[in-house]
Amino acid sequence: MDDRDTLATELDREHVFHSWSAQAALAPLVVAGGLGTRVWDHAGRSYLDFASQLVNVNIGHQHPAVVAGIQEQAATLATIGPATANLTRGEAARRIAARAPEGMNKVFFTNGGADANENAIRMARLHTGRDKVVSTYRSYHGNTGAAIVSTGDWRRLPNEYARGHVHVFGPYLYRSEFWSTTPEEEAERALRHLRRVVECEGPQSVAAILLETIPGTAGVLVPPPGYLAGVRALADEHGIMLILDEVMAGFGRAGEWFAFDAFDVTPDLVVFAKGVNSGYVPVGGVVLSDAVAKTFDDRVFPGGLTYSGHPLAAASIVASIDAMEDEGIVEHAKKIGAEVIGPGLDALADKHPVVGEVRGTGVFWAVELVADRATRVPLSAALMGRAKAELLGRGLIPFTADNRIHVVPPCVVTADEVAEALATYDAVLTLLDEEL
Ligand code: PLP
Repeated sequence: MDDRDTLATELDREHVFHSWSAQAALAPLVVAGGLGTRVWDHAGRSYLDFASQLVNVNIGHQHPAVVAGIQEQAATLATIGPATANLTRGEAARRIAARAPEGMNKVFFTNGGADANENAIRMARLHTGRDKVVSTYRSYHGNTGAAIVSTGDWRRLPNEYARGHVHVFGPYLYRSEFWSTTPEEEAERALRHLRRVVECEGPQSVAAILLETIPGTAGVLVPPPGYLAGVRALADEHGIMLILDEVMAGFGRAGEWFAFDAFDVTPDLVVFAKGVNSGYVPVGGVVLSDAVAKTFDDRVFPGGLTYSGHPLAAASIVASIDAMEDEGIVEHAKKIGAEVIGPGLDALADKHPVVGEVRGTGVFWAVELVADRATRVPLSAALMGRAKAELLGRGLIPFTADNRIHVVPPCVVTADEVAEALATYDAVLTLLDEEL
């Protein structure tokens, strides 16, 4: 063990307060460096990062062009206020808008994903003059006021203080709330349920329907054909804004620039963060439709942040989008998902009874683990804890949520790295099979 690993652990335990955790039992992994899909500690022990940290390091660790972009900007102008016009910020906004649907030309920058959702909700409320926001139980939108009460999962409950948030069940065929047996049925019934909730809440009071295009932490729930188009039609019928949260699904993760590119839907507001610059500098934002942007032509937008459009964040976005474009990283994510990761995980599902379902696209996959395939009873928390420890012990950083392992490497992952990871998952799934 290197002394710096010991010191990093000691300082962390003494002085750092961690997210979403009871602090006493924590034993965080020490990470000193990284490149591409790998990270390592000071002693040189290396790990395959199949979590992309928090599913955000889409371009991989230490991409040289992104590092250089930040360094150059730091040497030129390390910070500047949001009320100025800055060339790098403008270039970043132009690149994002160029990948958004037609008629979405303006970008509002925030510090991350949660405050981007806050501001998208604020824009939708002011644009429509309504206050309710409908989102799904199986979702995560961030940990600030409106974002955490839009969130559907357990993280909402201890934070519920804002009004006007209503939740529905979205489509999830493997554990259908609607007794569906086909994707078509699931889409139709989930849409009917959404329509009934909107009608019962009073469509005239609903400002926005806020959805993760592909709910991520909730289980990589790729929506069935027709669902998102149906939501769009319902929103149009009642003058409701459709906000698509692309924080996790966007910028290559789903094998598209925006995950909604693979579906027949155009949102009014797009929320982004994570993959836009792979988190090299904290940033997020909202892409506005021209109609929503126009609301604030002559009316003050009552929102803002000291670091909105921070030049280091902007430089990292410019460098990241350019590198992704030049190196075909989004196309690579799509191809490796379809040709290597998907088939590899399907083979594991065939072999291991503990696997209930595999689903996903691009570099965005979930392996749902069950104690019993027939009843689909989720694998216990104790065995999930064991799986996580076994994977880490074998040199793979896993992303686990509830009874699932999410297979979410950087978009630049190679076929060899996928093969290495699949062998590691295979070994750990064998251990889990033996426990059943
Ligand atoms: N929206 C989605 C879909 C997310 O996955 C996350 C974070 O995981 C957020 C919003 C919040 O982003 P941040 O942690 O940058 O505030």
